[in-house]
Amino acid sequence: MQFQDFDLSEPLLRAVREKGFQKPTQVQEQTIPAAMEGRDVLGTAQTGTGKTVAFLLPSLKHMLKGKAPKNPRMVVLAPTRELAVQIAEEAEELSKHTHLRVLAVYGGTSIRTQSNDLRRGVDLIVATPGRLLDQMRRGNVSFKDLEIFVLDEADRMLDMGFIPDIDEIVQRMPEKRQTMLFSATMPQPIVSLTYKYLKNPLRVEIDTAVPPSAINQQIFPVPKHLKEELLIELLKRENVESALVFTRTKAEADVVTRKLREESMSVAVIHGDFHQKKRMSSLERFRKGNARILVATNVAARGLDISDITHVVNYDVPDEAENYVHRIGRTARLDKDGVAWTFVTPEDEPLISGIEYLLGREIERVTLPDFDYDVPAPSWAKPSAKTLLKRVERSQSKIDVWKSLTRK
Ligand code: ADP
Ligand code: MG
Repeated sequence: MQFQDFDLSEPLLRAVREKGFQKPTQVQEQTIPAAMEGRDVLGTAQTGTGKTVAFLLPSLKHMLKGKAPKNPRMVVLAPTRELAVQIAEEAEELSKHTHLRVLAVYGGTSIRTQSNDLRRGVDLIVATPGRLLDQMRRGNVSFKDLEIFVLDEADRMLDMGFIPDIDEIVQRMPEKRQTMLFSATMPQPIVSLTYKYLKNPLRVEIDTAVPPSAINQQIFPVPKHLKEELLIELLKRENVESALVFTRTKAEADVVTRKLREESMSVAVIHGDFHQKKRMSSLERFRKGNARILVATNVAARGLDISDITHVVNYDVPDEAENYVHRIGRTARLDKDGVAWTFVTPEDEPLISGIEYLLGREIERVTLPDFDYDVPAPSWAKPSAKTLLKRVERSQSKIDVWKSLTRK
């Protein structure tokens, strides 16, 4: 199947050609025809499958018809600012040969400039829930003419506590509209949302929670106090062109970044404490290849489209098995090979069992040759037995929760 086979208009096809897309991905093949008929869509697919284009193309085509009202005809909600910007960029590229106007609306930037832009009139708003709600309450945006609503990364919205905000936004939208909801996973609260927001949706489901088999996954068992050393050694020894390193906390992200810089590696870092400008410039540095390594917390990195990553490093094991799949899905996107390394301390083992349960198989365990694993921990670094026990209990209860979610 080719993009020309969809009933898209020439300005859109031209933009697709200019983006260099050869042919539609699986999600696009399944989603685009139904969405062009105005049908609701419920899409579950792993990251990197091309969902953005899948919902943008049919919507853009729809908006090319008819007279443009001043109020937005389409709203896309995304969980993070970076993701909103990324979707808006993709929308701008795809609509560049049309008159359609795209605006990203997110926090951390001047509300006044944004309000002015809104009042000037836009066709498509890509927004994070908090800022859009803010603008709605100020009376700067009306959904009177809204026809299409897209909720992207719904499960992430749930994690971040955005569901009440989204509900408030959707309540002000016309009943009669097209809704498309995308989520990598389907926890119960998202299932409820789909009943509430979608009417007879087409279900598009592609390999949920199974990472691309092209990813070479390895576990490195390591004592906690040697993680930094191990990371440095691995990055030095292996042919790492571009790595995304995930840490659990902001503090850890900062420490790892500092250590790698001390080794003269080119590192960018991105986490929630940085204001918008800094996050964007870090991301840009990494995207352009000016930084070989990007250190990120989970929240900051989810959903970002960063391509050409050769390595994903789970410096910390993700707290939820499904996040593991999300993270490693960053490499080997659309037919590129990738490597995923996960550092595992003894107390992480319950989390690893959870991940392996989800994957339905064991992950290879490896040790780095000639690495001194026996360096004793400095006394301050040793957690008490009580702390250890608490951590294990915490991860165990998380596993129970998702086991109950994934049980068929
Ligand atoms: P998802 O939302 O499913 O995680 P994205 O929509 O972010 O994935 O797409 C991932 C990457 O693939 C983006 O860089 C996008 O431009 C690219 N892409 C999308 N569709 C195609 C296609 N048909 N051919 C090649 N690349 C594509
Ligand atoms: Mg996406």
